[in-house]
Amino acid sequence: MQAENSSSIVVVGGGHAAGRAIEALRGAGFAGRIALVGDEKQPPYERPALSKQLLNGEVEFDSLLVRPRDWYAEQGVELVLGTRAEAIDRPARRVLLRDGRAIAYDRLLLTTGARARPLTVAGANLPGVHAVRTVADALALRERLRPGARLLVVGAGLIGLEVAAVARARGCEVAVLEAGPHALGRVTPPEVGRMFEQLHASFGTEVHAGTLLTRIDKLRDAQRLVATSADGRRWEADAIVAAIGAVPNDELAANAGLRVDNGIRTDEFGRTSDPAIFAAGDVTAHFNPLLGRHLRLETWQNAQNQAIAVARVMAGGAQSHSEVPWFWTDQFGLNFQSAGAPMGWDEVHWRHAPDGKPAVVFYLQDGVLVGGATFNQGRQMRHLKQLIGVRARVDGRRLQDPGTALDQLARMVG
Ligand SMILES: Cc1cc2nc3c(=O)[nH]c(=O)nc-3n(C[C@H](O)[C@H](O)[C@H](O)COP(=O)(O)OP(=O)(O)OC[C@H]3O[C@@H](n4cnc5c(N)ncnc54)[C@H](O)[C@@H]3O)c2cc1C
Repeated sequence: MQAENSSSIVVVGGGHAAGRAIEALRGAGFAGRIALVGDEKQPPYERPALSKQLLNGEVEFDSLLVRPRDWYAEQGVELVLGTRAEAIDRPARRVLLRDGRAIAYDRLLLTTGARARPLTVAGANLPGVHAVRTVADALALRERLRPGARLLVVGAGLIGLEVAAVARARGCEVAVLEAGPHALGRVTPPEVGRMFEQLHASFGTEVHAGTLLTRIDKLRDAQRLVATSADGRRWEADAIVAAIGAVPNDELAANAGLRVDNGIRTDEFGRTSDPAIFAAGDVTAHFNPLLGRHLRLETWQNAQNQAIAVARVMAGGAQSHSEVPWFWTDQFGLNFQSAGAPMGWDEVHWRHAPDGKPAVVFYLQDGVLVGGATFNQGRQMRHLKQLIGVRARVDGRRLQDPGTALDQLARMVG
């Protein structure tokens, strides 16, 4: 069924998911009105380079754009940028903007993403305390990463460690504080987190796990900040980066009465509790049929593929979205890719490369492969995802054995 081409689709949230959704709407033949409301000034762009190549000065902003600026005009897409959507008037099907305007919709797509979780300690708002979520954030931080500058990163998650790696490569003195027992605690088992801590240590950066930041002060008569932890240790820094996770921008939906539970609740088609309103990307707590549960992801893959799938449904398609979660990170020349979203595991198996370095790690729960990760072995990822997708039951010894090719294993159990 083709969507009415006289109808109007409004997309709120001008990030990666929004850009790909608009592209997919036009790609699916939707010729009606499309308006994009985004509170950043830039048209949709991809964020991964903000803590990697853009922060390091290897690429400039325009290379991150989902589509060049002119493309939107060529496609008849109305860009309403630098403006926040403040409310959704569901009975009247209108989005109310901060600047007083109202935009009518027949169907609405919410791609409002997530924002950096703010630090709440005393001194969190002092100049010199940074977050890294937007291009403006990344460019402001880049200015601070001069050789010899001291940087303190709060949070040893993916973004914190990426920023730490870039800062070190640019000649900064870097320390990382992590409240949890090890790095990457939200996304990997302890042994993988500790590998990352060792990687950073080998480049001269200490990751202080189990260390809770309690306050930030400005040193009297100096530009420097000083951070204090719960056990009384102190770190002086020219800049501090808060990288303690992200929170979904789901208030717009919640205030409009949509079902929200750590993100906008959607089914596998991106449908919210209002049939006229859809959602995609970081802001969704969406149903994943492969995993059999709802989850919220903060990944490039989900922003891209879920948005495309939901846009096609909005344009009249009937295909649900279902894939094995996946993300990557790049630090000090290590490309780490991780697949699956395990709730837990009771076995961890390592496969090593001929030089003895870790190549692949597998996580099993009750004998079923529920997740895994590759270390500079991105070509194995497709097979690993396949095996996770079919919930393969594989003996741990076979997984450890480099003689068991993952593509063959995937063919056997697939
Ligand atoms: C620094 C960084 C590095 C990353 N690196 C990786 C990586 O290596 N690998 C990986 O898989 N993923 C990575 N990610 C995650 C990935 O970038 C996100 O999953 C993706 O950006 C999500 O896209 P989105 O469009 O759903 O949301 P967002 O990118 O958050 O975009 C949402 C947009 O909506 C706007 N908005 C919110 N509310 C409103 C409103 N009421 N009105 C108007 N506009 C509004 C926001 O300001 C924002 O511009 C990284 C993210 C960051 C921040």
